[in-house]
Amino acid sequence: MGQEMFCDCGNKCPMWTAWKNSPNLGRRFFSCPNYRTKDCGFLRWVDEPLSESARFLIYELKKENDTLQKLSEDYSRAKCVLEMKKLHKQITMIMEKVDSFKREKYDIERADSIVDDTCIGVDWIKCANG
Ligand SMILES: [Zn+2]
Repeated sequence: MGQEMFCDCGNKCPMWTAWKNSPNLGRRFFSCPNYRTKDCGFLRWVDEPLSESARFLIYELKKENDTLQKLSEDYSRAKCVLEMKKLHKQITMIMEKVDSFKREKYDIERADSIVDDTCIGVDWIKCANG
């Protein structure tokens, strides 16, 4: 289309499509951005009114499309939650591994200190005997 439309109050008017179930369903129109809030009542139809059967089809397809859109959003959300649960499980497993490594490290350090104490003891005994 590439058409630009300006209303009486000087605003550039975006083009919309009427989706409400009314005799204007499916028609495109230009209207002032302030159409509802200010006194500017500028509205210009782009398309002629459609036949009742065409409106019915468009209405049903729009409903179907909205339902699919919602299902798709729900699916994406559910997929996201599932992914987060998987990640949570992995993080829990990693944390458990880290804990186990920490315990192992603690045990090794304790064993080292016992060995050190024993060695010092042995040296002391050697010194005492020597
Ligand atoms: Zn206006």
